[in-house]
Amino acid sequence: MEFEAIIGLEVHAQLLTKSKIFCSCSTAFGAEPNSHTCPVCLGMPGVLPVLNKKVVDLALKVALAIHCKIARYSRFARKNYFYPDLPKGYQISQYELALAEHGYIEIIAGGKPKIIGITRVHMEEDAGKLLHDEGGDVSYSYVDLNRTGVPLIEIVSEPDVRTPEEASEYLKNLRGILQYLDVCDGNMEEGSFRCDANVSLRPMGQDGFGTKTELKNMNSFKNVQKALEYEIKRQTNILDGGDKVIQETRLWDAAKGVTLSMRGKEDAHDYRYFPDPDLVPLAVDDKWIEETKKSLPELPDEKRGRFVKEYQIPEYDAQVITTSKSLANYYEECVRLYPNPKVISNWVMVELLRRLKTDDREIEECPVSPKLLARMLEMIDEGTISGKIAKTVFEDMYLTGEAPEKIVEKKGLLQVTDQEELVEAVEKVLAENPKEVENYKKGKAKLFGFFVGQVMKETKGKANPNLVNEILRKMLDS
Ligand SMILES: [Zn+2]
Repeated sequence: MEFEAIIGLEVHAQLLTKSKIFCSCSTAFGAEPNSHTCPVCLGMPGVLPVLNKKVVDLALKVALAIHCKIARYSRFARKNYFYPDLPKGYQISQYELALAEHGYIEIIAGGKPKIIGITRVHMEEDAGKLLHDEGGDVSYSYVDLNRTGVPLIEIVSEPDVRTPEEASEYLKNLRGILQYLDVCDGNMEEGSFRCDANVSLRPMGQDGFGTKTELKNMNSFKNVQKALEYEIKRQTNILDGGDKVIQETRLWDAAKGVTLSMRGKEDAHDYRYFPDPDLVPLAVDDKWIEETKKSLPELPDEKRGRFVKEYQIPEYDAQVITTSKSLANYYEECVRLYPNPKVISNWVMVELLRRLKTDDREIEECPVSPKLLARMLEMIDEGTISGKIAKTVFEDMYLTGEAPEKIVEKKGLLQVTDQEELVEAVEKVLAENPKEVENYKKGKAKLFGFFVGQVMKETKGKANPNLVNEILRKMLDS
């Protein structure tokens, strides 16, 4: 039987505020353990949380940017559970009355635009962190509560995602939007952008949903994709064997490349949610919403439209480039230095992004600066290197971060424009292929390309293609 995957994504994003959501402790990353704590975030008896207005400001920006309807009245609730990194025994979150609902994000799936619905956006506090095996003593675990009370927004998607690739696209777009808004740094390794996925399968063409599992612990886009691929295969095997999928939470083990059962899945009622009596309901009026709307920067959709118009590049190119604010900035800087937008979008999309993807790197970590790329493109125009050799130069720039001139000199990649040298190469090729020459002269014009290819091979790709064409024509047609 053929199955279709139904995927829903939950993203927790850390908001870039200076202080925590319900107290004035710092949110800075990497401080001495437990140094950024106070009675409020330690959950001491008798303390009262006070909502940080900045958190609401940032959450509203996100909700509006992803086209959500803002609730004029929302409420914080206690999510009760026990864990050593949660000193209060409950997490303050939002439950029935969330800040915002019913939004959407547009992605490109299989070359076409697709809408992924957003169920809700709500605010909550983060828990602390457990440290195991520190200092080599495996009999101890430690608790660091610096992260306790750091503001998060949770963004829950509708189960509209169908493939691991779509999931990855959705996450990249969402992270892009958060970065455009400057509300989250999007760092997956440091945990400021975390993703859980709900996955179930159903027979193709069926309406109802199958039993889902929840995947956790995927700390890169690549891992999200791999974990989903694995889980879909695992569930397919279970269903093919006539067995039933168990509802549970599973952890992705990146080293082993498998998902492992962590615990039976809990339902909402297991958490005994109830309104937090320490916090007044949150009222957001029209003025606050209007002001936030006005403060929104140019978002990916708008930027895409502008790129198409201003730089005359295809919609698809603009979509790819504007997914990340940093990539869009990189592109615009390149265009400023080398005003040929389409040539640059080709290089960025083909060579640059392919290279970054292979290394699972971000554009910020790219060793090829806009200046280096622009300079290399100028060298093609000047005839110093051929387009083909440029790919070798690019790879070298990527690995070493060196200037293209230096690489060309170091590797002897200068384009051969020396007439005599090229004539020699052409003569050699013609002498080595007498049969092809004969056939060409009998009218097999297609062979011309073969000769060009042979000469390029002979010169290790360094020959100036226009000159080769010219010389070949002269010698073959004479
Ligand atoms: Zn505190």
